[in-house]
Amino acid sequence: MRILKKYTALILSIMTAIAIFAGCGSEEKPDTTAAVDKASLPEDVQQIVDRGVLKVGVKNITKGFGYEDPATGEYSGLEISLAKELGKYLGVDVEFTPVTAATRTALLDSGDIDCVLATFTITDERKKSWDFTTPYYTDHVSVLVENSSGIKKLTDLKDKTVGVSSGSTSAKSLVEAMVKAGIIPADAYDAATFDPATWTTGVKFKQYDDYPSISTALSAGEVDAFCVDKSILAIYNTEGRSYIEEEFAPQDYGIATKKGSGLSKVCEELVQKWLQDGTISKYEAENGLK
Ligand code: GLU
Repeated sequence: MRILKKYTALILSIMTAIAIFAGCGSEEKPDTTAAVDKASLPEDVQQIVDRGVLKVGVKNITKGFGYEDPATGEYSGLEISLAKELGKYLGVDVEFTPVTAATRTALLDSGDIDCVLATFTITDERKKSWDFTTPYYTDHVSVLVENSSGIKKLTDLKDKTVGVSSGSTSAKSLVEAMVKAGIIPADAYDAATFDPATWTTGVKFKQYDDYPSISTALSAGEVDAFCVDKSILAIYNTEGRSYIEEEFAPQDYGIATKKGSGLSKVCEELVQKWLQDGTISKYEAENGLK
């Protein structure tokens, strides 16, 4: 009897060891095994690993990039998939915070989010304040109008009012394109001092906090046109509306992180890897971006 007890105890402890080794019996936590050794990570990234959650700022109304299904609350898009890859690499969960062009930098600065994957265009000006990875996608700016306006080309925008998002590259991109096309005199424009709020030469701007508001303003005739990256404009290109002929100003999207942070380095290494190993191409195709 004592021998039997001894054997039972032995078998039980072997089974427990196997269960622990195989990860059985632990809480359901799908595939959060880090692909990287925590000790090899920069200190700020180790803190994210300890916290167990990577906080990512994403768009929630930009189909193909960052979109939250209103019915299910589920996020999808290229930027969502890349954020999940980043979480998987670190072995942490990913928490999405919806951001706009107007809110994303303040949320990053305050530490409410660790990084931004939100159609965030890399510019020299922005690089002074935040780190950006190598681009993972390149879009262009265009302009959406009501067909009834008769606006078809860049030249037709002369002296019109254009709706743009605050904190975006759109107004500057449009003015530069109009200067290039000879619609606005080159000597009237200075990139260093340009401000959409006060600009009145050849075109005027109204700034909004979000894109649905610009779309509503376009329908109401409050603005003559809606200007931003084509990827963002897509869901507003509804019946009775069209893009003008031109698209301009390449917009390179990068992951933005706090300047000088260890996370910047990790993101850069991963983007380089994803560009090379086909991860980005795969997610582009999955999201209809090719
Ligand atoms: N991509 C542009 C920018 O970064 C448009 C704004 C936006 O992403 O919402 O300024």
